Order: sequence, then C-alpha cells, then structure tokens
Amino acid sequence: MTLSQLFVKILPFTKPYKNLIFYTLILTVIGSLAVQVNAYILKYTVDTISDLLVEGTPLVRGLYILGFISAILLAKEVVYACIQFGQKFYGEKLRIMIARDFSQAIVDRILTYRMAFYTSAENESGKLQTRIDASISSLTRLVQNFFIDILPLFANAIVALICMFLANFYVGLVGLFIVPVYFYVSQLQATKLSGFRRRMRSYRENKSNQIINLIDSIMVIKSFVREDIEAERHRSIQYDMTENQMQTRKTGFIFYSIKSFIEQIGVVIVIILTAYFVLNDQMTLGAIMFHIMLFNNVSAPIRQLHRIYDEVNDALIYSESFFDILEADDAHEQSGGYIPTTLRGEIRMQDVDFEYPNGVKALHRISMTVKPNQITALVGLSGAGKSTIINLLDKFYHPSSGQILLDGIDLREYDTDFLRRNVGLVLQRNHIFKGSIRENIRYGRVEATEEEIIDSAKKAFIHEQITELPNGYDSEAHLLSGGQQQRIAIARMFLKNPPIIFLDEPTANLDAIATEQIKKSLDAIKVGRTVVIVSHSISQIIDASHIIVMEKGRVVEDGTHDTLYQKKGTYYRIFSAMANSLNIQKITESIRG
Ligand code: ADP
Repeated sequence: MTLSQLFVKILPFTKPYKNLIFYTLILTVIGSLAVQVNAYILKYTVDTISDLLVEGTPLVRGLYILGFISAILLAKEVVYACIQFGQKFYGEKLRIMIARDFSQAIVDRILTYRMAFYTSAENESGKLQTRIDASISSLTRLVQNFFIDILPLFANAIVALICMFLANFYVGLVGLFIVPVYFYVSQLQATKLSGFRRRMRSYRENKSNQIINLIDSIMVIKSFVREDIEAERHRSIQYDMTENQMQTRKTGFIFYSIKSFIEQIGVVIVIILTAYFVLNDQMTLGAIMFHIMLFNNVSAPIRQLHRIYDEVNDALIYSESFFDILEADDAHEQSGGYIPTTLRGEIRMQDVDFEYPNGVKALHRISMTVKPNQITALVGLSGAGKSTIINLLDKFYHPSSGQILLDGIDLREYDTDFLRRNVGLVLQRNHIFKGSIRENIRYGRVEATEEEIIDSAKKAFIHEQITELPNGYDSEAHLLSGGQQQRIAIARMFLKNPPIIFLDEPTANLDAIATEQIKKSLDAIKVGRTVVIVSHSISQIIDASHIIVMEKGRVVEDGTHDTLYQKKGTYYRIFSAMANSLNIQKITESIRG
C-alpha cells in the first residue's frame, strides 16, 4: 500500500470529525505564526539597544523598552499556551475518537464473518488479535502524529522559511538548502533502523510469549526440574534483544550527531552571511540573532523527520492487515431469506462432501437422515468427522458439494439468524463469558426473567450449587469447575429452548454424578425435539433411537443399537471397545456382590 492509498482509506474515518480537524488546523497556523514572534522581538531588542548605545541615551529609555518587550513576550506566551493547549487537546480528541471508530469498525465487521475466516491459519485467535491490536495502534499513532506533531512542526518550518526569505533571499536559501539534506539523512536513518526495529518487535513478541508459556507450564517445569533450561532459554532471547537494542541506539546516536553537525554548519553559514550583510551596512546587528532563531525554527521540526518516517512505515505495514481484515468481503457469512413459520426438524444430507479451508477433506459423500422428534447419535472414532457434521448443520461451514435439507428446504436458503435462533448447540467445552453466572445463563435469552433463569439452572441440575456460593447467581462464572461450567452452558440452552438441539460430547468433561444428572436433563429436553448427539458415552448412545456410524469422513452404518450390534461391523467394534474399557464384568460383579 502506498501512502496516498492509505490516506484515501483513512479519509472516511476522519469525515465525522471535519469540524475538529478544521479547528485543529486553524490553531496550528496561528501557533506557527506565534512561534516566530520571539525572533522578531529579539531583532527589535538588539537593534534598539544598539541604537541607544550609539545615541548615548540614558538607561531610563532602555528600561522602558525592556518593559514593552517583556509585556509583548508575556502576552505572546499566554496566547501561545492557550493555542498549544487547544491544538493538542483537539488533536488528542481526534485520535481518541478515531481509535474508537477503528476498533468498532473492525469488531462490527469480523462479527459478520464466517467460521472459515476464524479457523484459517493466518487468523488463529492470537495472531488475529495481535494484527488487529498492532494495526489499530499504529494507524491511530499515524493520525495522532499527523495532527499533533507533524502538522504543527511543518507549519512552523514553512512559516519560518517564509520569514527567512522575507528577511533576505540568500539567508532564505540556506534555510531551504537544509530541508532536502535533512530529508535524505532521515530517510537513510529510517532505512538503517527499520531492520533493527522489525527484529526488536519479534524479540518482544517472543519474549512475552515465552514468559506466558513459562507461567502456563510452571507445574511441568517444576515437576521435571527444568528451571535451568527455561532460565537459559530466556537468557538467550534477552541477550539477542539487548544486542539489538544497543545496535539501534548506536545507529540512532550516529545519525543524531550527523544531523547536529549539518545543523551547526547551517548556523555558521547563516552567521557568516548575515555578518557580511551587517558589515556591508545592508542589515542591522539584530539580524544575526533573528536569522539564527528563524533557522532554528526551520531545522528543529525537521530534525524529527526520521520518527515520522518510522511511523509512516509502520502504519503502511500494519494498515495493510487492518484493511485486509476490514475489507475481506468474501469472508461474509451467507444468508438466505427463507423463514418458515414452524420447524419440524427433519434433516437430510445428500451426497455431502466437505473440505476445510486448509484443504483437509473431512467428509466424503455423506447421505443420512435425522428424523424429527427423536435422538440421533453420531458414533465414530476420534477424527471421523462427527463435529464437522455439527458444524455444517449449524451453517458454520457450507458443503463443498451435495445438499443439506431442513424440512425439505436447502439450508443455504434459510435465514442464518433464524436458523441459529432455532438451534441449540452444546459443545464439549462451552464458552463461559467473563461475568456473573446470571449473565452467562441469560445469554441464552437476553430478555429472560429471574424465575426463568433459576428454572433453567434447576433443569441443568446446577441451581443448588449456585445458591451455595457466597454470591449466588452473582458469582463470577469463570471460577466454576469445568463440569459446573458445562451445566451453565446447558442451562443457557434450556433458556433458549430451541426445537433442534446439537450436542457435541456434552458430558465429556463431567464427573460421573454430573453426567448422570445431565443425562436426566437431556432426557427432559429431548421430548418433542430433534436432537443430534455426538457422544462416547454408552448410555447416551444406547438411548438414541437412531445411530449413524462414521469412519474416516464416511457414513459406514446406520440403524438402531440392536440391529447395528447384531451386524458385527464397525459399530460392534466401537461399542465392544467402549464396554470393555468400562470393565463391565468387574462392575457387574461389584454391583451384584
Ligand atoms: P470428530 O468430531 O469425529 O472427532 P472432526 O469432525 O473434529 O472429527 O474432524 C474431522 C477431520 O477434520 C479431522 O481430520 C480433523 O483434523 C479435521 N478438522 C477438524 N476441524 C478442522 C478445522 N477447523 N480446520 C481444518 N481441519 C479440521
């Protein structure tokens, strides 16, 4: 992306703040005029005092002039302080507003994206978050720099340059000459430092990643007594980082010296040139200080050019990923317009093939029927494609080929929001949001009453445990155990009360008692609904009216428990392995004994 393209893209974000920008610009111009006052006053002071010395007028007149000058300088400082405050405040306000809009725009946008966007390798949650964070802060810094730093600096430099030309053409030329030289040196500096800065960024990421990993795995580290290895690993990153930091500083200081040197040469040329004019009687003595100060007003702002280069470069790098995310039009979730009055809940998959965006072919010519108002269990070894089917049924992904029909209508034609409102999904690990237990259950139906929330907690067999907590329903949901969180998720689904329910290993993380309780709640919820359950629990599988057996992305068998068991095929093998793992013989002996 080029700088002009970047500006075109940022422009719509600045539009709502036209007035703010206008005021900032006006203040910037007034500020840059005010900055030059000192130079004029100094010239006037030197000239008047030297005249007084020549004339031999008494000190009284001198004091009168000094009083006048002080009053002007004081007034100027007061005005300038107000202008600076306004300029910085408006600039900062603009930055804060635009940062807010950038964040909101990207969040609004990604919420509409389909699942494939989130699961693609380049958008894994950590990476996506880093990209969004880095790009927003870099774009915001660009806006801030432009309005708070760059613009006033350049306005000052330009006004000072005009004043130099107005004072004397040749002096103006010296001021003008320094600009391209500084540009060149600053660009060199930015290019030289960019490699260091990029490396520094990756060192920082690695370092914080490593510390996070270290904290996460502290138990393993300690139990294997690997503290030394971890400390060594950290030390080597730290050493590389220090080395890089030193190089960055060294290069920075070298360029700083070069720039100071160039600036001092400029000052010397201005002094010599002006002294020549003074001696030649073309100028007064005050012109020397006057020109030096104007020259300083030109060089001071552009001394910071390299910082601007750095930040513009950063913004160019990061903004690309920001706008890539913002403008990923092909990532939008598709939705049809079909909204039926009622849902019967019959699902048919016809010759469905499915390939994940990363190329993994997860389903091959799947044909199956899920009958309404009964439980269908999907059975198969891990990786068989069961969760993938649930993903397709919830429209998180679309089949690569083939069709999924709900009540005879292609799933693609359904309004996606309508469909999801009528489908309940309970996963092996359900997301519990930061917040209270009440808020987490209410997520199922935002307008639910307190009684309804308690009622669904009771159905999920979690109410009593909640009331035993010191803060009851106001307790932080994150602090609950895995099994309790699972039941919060089930309570959430009870509250949603959808006609179709997909359960993906809902009891995989629960203890035996909780599993039994959940089984009871599921028995209650399944009445009169279409339920698809993926499970490794024998009791849940046996309970299903219809079992679909999957192997390596294919449906290999399908029927009731009895027929499938008799068949002595894949189901028989999986079922027998499950039963053997339970050590049924011993269990039976214990129960009998
Ligand atoms: P199961 O639920 O039967 O254990 P899955 O449906 O989770 O199986 O997985 C089926 C296949 O799809 C596996 O090979 C798995 O690695 C792959 N897979 C699952 N999720 C994704 C994903 N988000 N991206 C790419 N491949 C995936």
